Amino acid sequence: MSLPRKPPARAKKHPPSKLAALQLRRTLALSAFALVLVLFAFGAVVFKYLMPPESTAVEMLPAVATPAAVPIPTPAKTPTTEAPVDEQFMTASSRAAVARDEIGDPSSRLVVVNKQRPIEGKRYEPELVSVLNSEHQLHPSAGEALEKMFAAAADDGVQIRVLSAYRSYDRQYGSRNANGQKHSGAALDAISARPGFSEHQTGLVADVGMPNGQCELKACFADTTAGLWIQEHAADYGFIVRYPDGENDITGYIYEPWHLRFIGTATAEDFTASGAPTLEQYFGLPAAPDY
Ligand SMILES: [Zn+2]
Repeated sequence: MSLPRKPPARAKKHPPSKLAALQLRRTLALSAFALVLVLFAFGAVVFKYLMPPESTAVEMLPAVATPAAVPIPTPAKTPTTEAPVDEQFMTASSRAAVARDEIGDPSSRLVVVNKQRPIEGKRYEPELVSVLNSEHQLHPSAGEALEKMFAAAADDGVQIRVLSAYRSYDRQYGSRNANGQKHSGAALDAISARPGFSEHQTGLVADVGMPNGQCELKACFADTTAGLWIQEHAADYGFIVRYPDGENDITGYIYEPWHLRFIGTATAEDFTASGAPTLEQYFGLPAAPDY
């Protein structure tokens, strides 16, 4: 006897319509995949052979932003407390180049007059106005600034007076002779300019002092109320102490905290910021210790 045989399991078959749909979907999927591959390959070929190298692309298309146009970060500068001397003089040279004509022009507030740089046209006479209703005269720009400065000092309770301002060539000649009664040679040259070599002849300079004559034309003027106020505020009005302490090898003059030179507020601010002690160093000009 034999067990009734189960009919052999027939392979499951899809009906013909479903089979066709399945095959169609497979074909479509494969085709889509193949299309993607072909497009990808085509894109790669186009990119490789048709696109110019990046550097050329930058040259050809300067206006188009490319990764090469991303700014490269610059390394942080090493902080320095003080610019090296060479750098100071490089800056000074460029200032001199910019102001080349002005530093030789006695009518410019940037003029540099010293023992190596006489006033161009030695008998030059500037435009002048009286200052502070006195007999003293200055160039209008310097006169206006001086009156503003004196008014500001007075507001702070500090009185300053003018001892000497503009001096003509002839007046300098007389002043030099008067000083020559007591001094001679290098000692005379250190305190009194020869005529034609004095900044006072430009109308841009005032010698100032205390109303009571304290430390008049002496180094100790720096420690008077007027002297201290000047050191702190003169640059705000465009004036600098032209002959600072310890710089006579550069300027050719002893320390004169009373001798104020007008260079204008913008230049005085830049001068102060530069750290240059003298106009010679500020402009990178040769030292002028003597004639
Ligand atoms: Zn002076």
